[in-house]
Amino acid sequence: MKKNIEDILAKDELEFQDIVTLLDTEGDEQKLLFDKAQQVQLDCIGKKVFYRGLVEFSNVCSKNCFYCGIRKDNTSVERYNLEDEHILEAAQFAWKNKYASMVLQAGERSDDFFINRVDNLLQKIKELTNGELGITISLGEQTEETYKRWFKSGAHRYLLRIESSSKVLYNQIHPDNDEHDFERRLSCLRTLRKVGYQTGTGVMVGLPWQTYEDLARDLLFMRDFDIDMCGMGPYIEHQDTPLYKHKNILWPIKKRFSVTLNMIAILRIIMKDINIAAATALQAIDPMGREKALRIGANVIMPNITPTLHRKDYQLYENKPCTDEGAEDCGNCMSMRIELAGREVGLGEWGDSKHFFKRK
Ligand code: SAH
Ligand code: SF4
Repeated sequence: MKKNIEDILAKDELEFQDIVTLLDTEGDEQKLLFDKAQQVQLDCIGKKVFYRGLVEFSNVCSKNCFYCGIRKDNTSVERYNLEDEHILEAAQFAWKNKYASMVLQAGERSDDFFINRVDNLLQKIKELTNGELGITISLGEQTEETYKRWFKSGAHRYLLRIESSSKVLYNQIHPDNDEHDFERRLSCLRTLRKVGYQTGTGVMVGLPWQTYEDLARDLLFMRDFDIDMCGMGPYIEHQDTPLYKHKNILWPIKKRFSVTLNMIAILRIIMKDINIAAATALQAIDPMGREKALRIGANVIMPNITPTLHRKDYQLYENKPCTDEGAEDCGNCMSMRIELAGREVGLGEWGDSKHFFKRK
């Protein structure tokens, strides 16, 4: 069996069945996969890890994804919307601490008030930081016009996870209506590229009904779509969501964790120069989860710089880590963790996806 893994890893190009086999590795075989991914990482993008200060500025959401704790119909969530002033302070914190980039994330809304507000915030952040702070946004599905407006106002990377590239599975984890349409999500991803964003996507790993074959197709989807960045994490059930009732058929949480690492490692092997984030959800399962990801292919980490008061209300899943630490604590803890993982922090550098510039 081991020989088989070695043979697969020696290939120039991985095929569907190879990926399925690699996804199912653990123990010594998994170590071979990880060693290869680490080698590719060091050879192609080096030791540097980049910070994106994450601000989860509102948990108000107009959608009802079956897996997510802040879905519209969850009435047990205390909804919040950070004041502009506090978002700008967080941006300033990121800039002063040489994070070089920030991520603005929130529940999805597409009303005019929201669109204008984000537009205005982007311009203010650029102004406040001398145009030096890079901005990634993760604000869901919007019209081309909105994507263009935000791009023009200073956002240059966008994260929109496909969640699952299987239309069947996508439909199983979302309500059946126009607001949660698979084709629309795909079309948004295409639009983001067209507008000029460095485009990131990703999936959840360990969803109910998901198979290794689905996950292998997810990786091939990312390769074929030629994405610039990826963020993927384990699915973690949340009790106030419709998907919770299927928790009995989930893989054990440790397996979801381990397969997520396999996904990251394989993605690094098949897409050598993209940016891959070590998702926070990894840390909800293993205190060293993100560091493990950094060692085997991930090169971006998103320290949470949301003002502490509201962190506990942005619970997409259970056991979300670091909900009661402030931004300073987060930053210090993070640089220590990165060094432990044998990586260096690329302070003051945007750390854009190398792939993006080759693609253009
Ligand atoms: N509203 C935006 C951004 C916030 S959600 C959007 O949907 O794009 C960001 C990501 O959180 C989602 O893409 C999803 O992959 C992840 N997420 C939501 N619920 C989750 C859960 N229960 N477990 C793991 N990840 C989850
Ligand atoms: Fe809203 Fe995003 Fe959660 Fe879906 S995943 S309910 S769009 S915050």
